[in-house]
Amino acid sequence: KSLTKNKTGKENTAIYSRACKVITGGVSRNTIFREPHPYYVSHAKGSYITDIKGVERIDFANNMASLIHGHAHPNITNAVTKQLKKGTAYTMGTESEVDFAELLINRSVGFEKIRFVNSGTEAVMTMIKASRAYTGKPKIAKAEGAYHGTYDYAEMSQTANPSNWGDINKPNTVPLVDGTPQGVVDDVVIFPFNDIERTLNILDQNADKIACVLIDPVPHRIGLFPASNQFIEAIYKWTRKNNAILAFDEVVTFRVNYGGAQDNYSVVPDLTAMGKIIGGGFPIGALAGKSEIMQVLNPRQAILKHPHSGTFSANPISTTAGRIAMEMFDENAILRLNELTKKAIYQIKESIKIADVPISITGDGSMFRLHFTETAPRLYREAYQPKQIKNIVTELLDYMFLKEHIIMINTCACMFATTLEQKEIDRLSQALLNGFRLIKP
Ligand code: PMP
Repeated sequence: KSLTKNKTGKENTAIYSRACKVITGGVSRNTIFREPHPYYVSHAKGSYITDIKGVERIDFANNMASLIHGHAHPNITNAVTKQLKKGTAYTMGTESEVDFAELLINRSVGFEKIRFVNSGTEAVMTMIKASRAYTGKPKIAKAEGAYHGTYDYAEMSQTANPSNWGDINKPNTVPLVDGTPQGVVDDVVIFPFNDIERTLNILDQNADKIACVLIDPVPHRIGLFPASNQFIEAIYKWTRKNNAILAFDEVVTFRVNYGGAQDNYSVVPDLTAMGKIIGGGFPIGALAGKSEIMQVLNPRQAILKHPHSGTFSANPISTTAGRIAMEMFDENAILRLNELTKKAIYQIKESIKIADVPISITGDGSMFRLHFTETAPRLYREAYQPKQIKNIVTELLDYMFLKEHIIMINTCACMFATTLEQKEIDRLSQALLNGFRLIKP
C-alpha cells in the first residue's frame, strides 16, 4: 500500500550515482554503505523510515543507537521548532545549557561537573586530553576491539585482523588508519576486555605513564557483553594506586539505566563521556565527572591546563532537544524499554530454536546483538567474526532490509527506541525466523 501512496518517481540508484560524483564513495559515513548502493530517506516517524521509493521499514538501528524516542517525536520537534525561531548559535551562553546540565548532573553520583561538545568522538577526545592534563602522563589504555570514535588514540586496535593481534598477554597496538604516527601507536596500551589478570599485568608494565584507562562498560564492537563488576573494580583499584583516571565511554551505554551503565557497578568512574541519545536526535557529546579533574578546563584557573572550546558546543538546538528527550527517558520509560527488549530477546531465542541454527545473543538494557556461534562469546577474540561469518551476517541483514523491511545495525545488533511496541517485536522475531531458515548451513 505504502509503495503506491508515497511513490516519488525518484530512484535510489540515480541519487547514488549523483552522490558518487561529488561525495567520496557516495557516502558521508562508511557505516551506511551497502552493496550495491545505499538507500535514501524520504521521511521518518516513530519507529518507521520511508525511503524515496515509498518503502516503509521498521527501524531497530535508530541512527546507530542515538534516537531513544524514535524519529520526529512531537515533544522534541515542537521544542526545537520554538528554539529555531530564536536562533541557533550565539557566541554567548544559554539558559538551555544550564537546564540540561542540571538535569544530567542529577542522574549520576559521578557527575559533579559537565561540559558539552558536539559528538561522542569529541567527548572521548576531551576525556583523554583532560586525563593527560590532570595526571601529567602521556599514555592511555584501551580494550582490544573497542570502538570509541575516531580520535587517533581512541581508535587503536579497533578492528585489527587476527594476524595482527599478537600475544593475548600483550596485545599489539594496531593503528586503524594508514599513516598514523608512530608516536600515537607508542602511547596506547591495549588490554583484553574482562580479563583481569592479563589486564592488570599489562597496566603494571606501563604504570608510570598511563593517564587513563578507557572503558566502555558494554562495548558493542567487542561483542556487546557487559564488563564484570570484578573487572571494573580491579581497574578502579589499579587507577587509585597508580594516579590514573578511570574513564568510562558511555556514548552508547548511557541508555542502560537512569545514570548509565555505571549504575551497575560498585565503583564510580572519574570521568564519563556521553553522546548519542542525550542529543535527542541532534549532534551532541558531553564530558562529565569529578569537579577536581574537570577543573583543568576551567577558564578561571591560574594556569589553564586544557583550554577547551568548540564553535557549536552546547548549541541551544541540541541542548533543547536533549533535555526534552532525557526528561522523557525517566526511570519508568527505561524500565518499560528494557522489559520490551527482554521480551524481544526471548522471542528471538524461540526463533533460533525453531530454525535450529547455531546463533546466540548478548546484550544489556535496550540493546542486543546476534552472534553466529552456539554459545555466546565472553571475550573479544571469541566474538570476532571471520570473513565467512561476516558474509552470512551480510546475507541476513540484506534479507531483513530488502525483503522483510527491517533495519538493524550492521553487526546484527538492535538498539531499541521507546516508540517500539509489541507488534514491531513480533515482526522482528518472525522476520528473523524466516532469515535464519534462509542462511541455515
Ligand atoms: N564511543 C562509542 C562507544 C560509540 O559507539 C561511538 C559511536 N558509534 C562513539 C564513541 C563516537 O561517537 P560519535 O559517532 O558521535 O562521534
